[in-house]
Amino acid sequence: MHLLDILALRPVPASAVFLSLTRRCPLSCRHCSTNSAIGSEEHSPDLFTRLVESFTPDAHPRLVLMSGGEALLRPSLVERIATRARESGTASYVLSGMFFARDGRIPGPIKKAIDAVDHFAASVDAFHEEEVPRRAVLEVLGALRAEGKDVSVQLTGLGDDDPYLAEAVGDIRETLGDRVPVLVGLVGPVGRAAGWLGDWPEERRRVLTHRPIALPPAPCTMAAWPVVTFDGTVVACCNQDVADRGEAVPHLTLGHAARDGWPEIRERCLSRPLLRAIRAVGPQYVASMGGVPEGGGYCETCRLLSDDPRAEAVATRPVFSLLDADATRRQVAEGAAGFARRYGSARYGELVGLGR
Ligand code: SF4
Repeated sequence: MHLLDILALRPVPASAVFLSLTRRCPLSCRHCSTNSAIGSEEHSPDLFTRLVESFTPDAHPRLVLMSGGEALLRPSLVERIATRARESGTASYVLSGMFFARDGRIPGPIKKAIDAVDHFAASVDAFHEEEVPRRAVLEVLGALRAEGKDVSVQLTGLGDDDPYLAEAVGDIRETLGDRVPVLVGLVGPVGRAAGWLGDWPEERRRVLTHRPIALPPAPCTMAAWPVVTFDGTVVACCNQDVADRGEAVPHLTLGHAARDGWPEIRERCLSRPLLRAIRAVGPQYVASMGGVPEGGGYCETCRLLSDDPRAEAVATRPVFSLLDADATRRQVAEGAAGFARRYGSARYGELVGLGR
């Protein structure tokens, strides 16, 4: 499964589900958005397998994405999920910081996990490179690609003008012969990076935190894929702050993997009025329609909406199901490179098509 096929699903509500298999990670990168360490939390594998067991040929997401922490600290769990998901028609993806590449080889259980998934993505950035040499990562990726594996690089820098990005893009393209797609993202002021990154210029901050400059409708494009957090709570978006609050924000909580199956989670994702309205016009627009006070920003306002019944009253208007579908249609038409440019690097967005 090529990266383009994965990104093409990104705007489609409930077409995929993220599983945060563990917060543990053997690396301690300075920009880590989840504040992961080797002693971080890790919950029962049953939480995640139970959810995947609820997929059926008639009711399943098209893709399951596994990350962490470091998902490949649980290789047998990754393999089990990928194998079971495929039985129902669901493809699989795993993202890794490739701690194992330091030794220049892939340990047996990790190779079996990588073989089991439909797409393997590796994180590369200046901070990972302090722990795992880029040369070692690219060697492993090149070998996997030569076997016919669909792989990609998730490359992260500080901005389009970051000289590290220019140098790393050139090196990756040359070393891997333009056969491997690259999704270029930018470090955001969350997790460990919040302590040193400082703030972004207004235009960049607007994109990262989805804040509109004025108040036209500004659909949230991050509320399409449910996320199963480290403890099994299922939330509606991949905003790390929402994941860390667990069940504290009712309209963004879709359930819990210990008690809910995919059919219930999918139904809540698609039909919950506030979620549909947020995807259709954005939280600040919903707040302004209902006379709800703003929370100081885009996601900040979103988190307050379920505290005020006027927001729910606005969101139940039937027009929002039409507008939700229209927003999805427009984002699908924008294409994978459009998504990559808007949420990552504008300069390097086209690299998601390499190796097609
Ligand atoms: S606007 Fe709401 S749903 Fe969208 S990313 Fe922010 S917190 Fe999540």
